[in-house]
Order: sequence, then C-alpha cells, then structure tokens
Amino acid sequence: MGSPVDDSLFCDQVQYAAAQDVDLAVESAEIAFNGPWRKFTAAQRGEALSKLAVMLLEHKEELAYLDATAIGKLGAETEVEFAASILRYYAGWADKYPGESFPGEDGFVKIVRHEPLGVCAGINPWNGPIATMCLKIGPALAMGNVIILKPSEKTPLASNRLAYLASETGILPPGVIQSLSGDGATGAMLASHMKVRKVSFTGSVATGKKIQEAAAKSNLKRVTLELGGKSPSGIFEDCSFDNAVCWSVFAITQITGQACFAASRVYVQESIAEKFIEAFTKGMKEKMKELGPLADKSQLSRVSSFIQNDAGRTKILVGGKQHGNEGCYWEPTVFYNPEKDAQVYKEEIFGPVACVSTFKDEEDFLRLANDSEFGLMAGVFTQDINRAMRISSRLDSGVVGINCVSTISLQTPFGGSKQSGIGREMGHYALRSFSEPKTVLINMNY
Ligand code: NAD
Repeated sequence: MGSPVDDSLFCDQVQYAAAQDVDLAVESAEIAFNGPWRKFTAAQRGEALSKLAVMLLEHKEELAYLDATAIGKLGAETEVEFAASILRYYAGWADKYPGESFPGEDGFVKIVRHEPLGVCAGINPWNGPIATMCLKIGPALAMGNVIILKPSEKTPLASNRLAYLASETGILPPGVIQSLSGDGATGAMLASHMKVRKVSFTGSVATGKKIQEAAAKSNLKRVTLELGGKSPSGIFEDCSFDNAVCWSVFAITQITGQACFAASRVYVQESIAEKFIEAFTKGMKEKMKELGPLADKSQLSRVSSFIQNDAGRTKILVGGKQHGNEGCYWEPTVFYNPEKDAQVYKEEIFGPVACVSTFKDEEDFLRLANDSEFGLMAGVFTQDINRAMRISSRLDSGVVGINCVSTISLQTPFGGSKQSGIGREMGHYALRSFSEPKTVLINMNY
C-alpha cells in the first residue's frame, strides 16, 4: 500500500522541545492570545473550529497514517472522523455558552461572564492521540483560549502536523495552536510553567499526580485529569444475553484493550455464569482475527509481565500469550475468578485482558464493582429498568452504561471519580473547565 503522506514528514527521530522552546511557545501563545485571537468574536471562533474540522477530514488519510504507523492502530481513520466531529461540536458551542444575570431587586444587577484562562496546555497519551487532542482544542478555543499541545513521545507526528496546518492554512493566527514534541520532561515544563494557566491532561494516574503537584508548586494553574480505569461490568441473569456477550467482548478488545474505559472486570451472576463464560471466551477467541497489535514492544512486555505475574495462581480460560512470533500481537485473554489482590484484577493492564468473576445478587455486585481505586466507567446488563437505575445510582463511576459499556457520547460529560480523574471532558462541562467565571456587580443605587 502506498503512503498517503509526503515522505518529508517522516523522520527517524523527533526533536524534543527543550526549556527555551517551551518558553518560546508560551511567549508566542501569549502574543496570539492578547493580539489577533482576542479580536475573534465567539462566532468567528466557532467558524474557525468548523474550518479546522473540514481541514482534518481533508487530511484524514495522512493524519491517520501518521498515527497508525506509530502505534499500529487499526481504524485510525475512524478516529480522525470522530476528532472532526468533536471540533464541529465545539464550533457550535462557541457563541452559545451563556453567561448569567440576576435581577437587581437589591439595587445591584449581577452578571456572570465566562472568560478565557489564557495559555492552556493539553498533555496527551498515545492511545487515541487525535481524538484526545481535539477534546482539548475544541473547548479551549471555543472559550477563547490558546493551546499548546504536548503529544505522547510515541505519537508526536499527527499532533505536530495538525498544529502546523492550522496556522499554515490561515485558519488560525500563529500561536493559537502549537504542538511541542517531547517526553515527560517537556510535559513537566509545561505543568510547572508560571505563564501556563491550565493543564488539561489525559494519561496515567501516576503522571496525573505529578502534574497536580507541579501545578500546586508553581502558579496554581487549573488542572483537569482524565486518568486510567479498571472498569466493572455486571451481567445479570435477566439480561439480553447476546447483547451482553457482544458488548463484553467489544469493551475489552476495542483498540486492542488499550482504552482507558475498557471494561476489564466482568462480573456475571452465578445462575448464568457457565453459559455466559462459554459464550464470552468463544467471542474473545474469535476476536483475534480482527485485533490489531499492541502499540509497541514496551506495551507488549507490560501486558506479558502482568500475565506472567498472576498466571500461576489464576485460571486462564483463553489466551494468555503473544500471538505468533512477529509483531506485538496479544491473544485476547480471560482470567477466571482471580484473587482480589491479584495484580491482573486490581491494576490497569491496557491490553485485551479481562477478569471474569461471579456474584450472587445486586449487593454482591455493587460491593465487588466499587472495591477499586478507579471510577471511570461501569456497565449494567439487565432488562429490569428499576434494577438498572438502582444500581447506576450506587456505582462509583463517572459514566454508567445500561445494556452497553465502554462507550461515550460527545454531548455528555466524560471523566472519572476516585483516582480516575478530576473534572470532565465533553459536553458543555468541558467549556466550564476552560473558562473562569467573572462576576460583574452593577450598582444601581446612586
Ligand atoms: P502517561 O501518563 O505515561 O503519559 C501521558 C502524557 O504525559 C505523555 O504525553 C507523557 O509524555 C506525559 N508525561 C509523562 N510524565 C510527565 C510529567 N511528569 N509531567 C507532565 N507530563 C508528563 O500515559 P500513557 O502511557 O501515554 O497513556 C496511557 C494512560 O492514559 C492509561 O493509564 C490510560 O488509562 C490513560 N488514558 C485516559 C483517558 C481518559 O480519558 N480517562 C483516555 C486515554 C488514556
């Protein structure tokens, strides 16, 4: 297959931004924020975001290729389409996010405006690079901020290309979107920079904590954190069986299990356990045919070390090893009833590895599901709407799917409770986190 990408875009090595590059980027961002970008009306910012979405689609093959070659991702083009829909969604919001006003019965008219924060940083992981990038660009620009992206060191090319195209095509003034390649050190410089007013971070819990610490030690910049998960899913005896099996397989195999909201803990009610486990393991086995590789060798050895660690003391129903000798393919794997202190059961693996356990009743499921430091996503499979609603209100989770799991909607907030994060992306909640309310009190008493 020929490459849809100009060869000159490829290079063996990508330069990491040094401290002076970070300072320069922040300076350019400030100039854009205080100069040409401020002159854009809200409607014009929306128009620019719409154009950016069109530009993304015009470069779909190229951007997808840059990511696909970096992490072997299947369906990278679909991700670019989703990313464009994110930009379109926030384009629509740009001139529609309302302020507030309160009548002046006490002689004061009170107005609340949502003002931009200024220079924001978007620090991103490698697993959904273009979508996570646009989840930061969309609300940041809609609210009038400028943004410096820091893509993962594994996937810098598409982010750099997008930032370049955004100003080269004249859609945005230079400095409104920039992209700095680099590893954790570059991210840390942004997180501790005195002139960066907000970091929107997506990545691991460990890095999220470092970012919050850096923000606290520097200028108390605003921080939102979209972190990891170990999401539970409850399969009740009154579920629509095929639907539950289908979602359970999908939930832990999409992006080869390298998704923050992957439902990796599957709980099935005892009365249907045998039948469900048989169908689930069959579905997992069959999935191998369409599964892409893990991102790279380090991800392969991460998954492998998890399995080796617990394989001796936990029954593996299917998979448990690398698929073939070439590349980074991993067989979809199912652990059965692991001990509750097993590493595979407690920690995020980021591969197509599920733990299946059984439960007796609702209380038992809730106890097991909530016994985790994560709280990003949960699923409930039942045809009893009362049960579904009862359980959804008691699950410690930012998102609960009923008869679905590990899926998201752009219109509604996405993010985690407990150590899965702080704040929300998507919907109008993201606009709130990229702005600062300002109260204006008008004295009518004189
Ligand atoms: P990571 O935390 O290793 O890296 C994420 C980003 O942070 C990278 O760009 C990295 O260079 C940067 N970074 C590393 N150290 C830093 C520091 N000290 N200061 C500032 N930046 C630093 O995560 P990863 O391996 O790239 O991604 C996988 C993780 O991301 C998983 O835990 C996954 O669950 C999570 N994730 C969460 C969501 C969500 O929306 N909740 C979405 C996708 C991925």
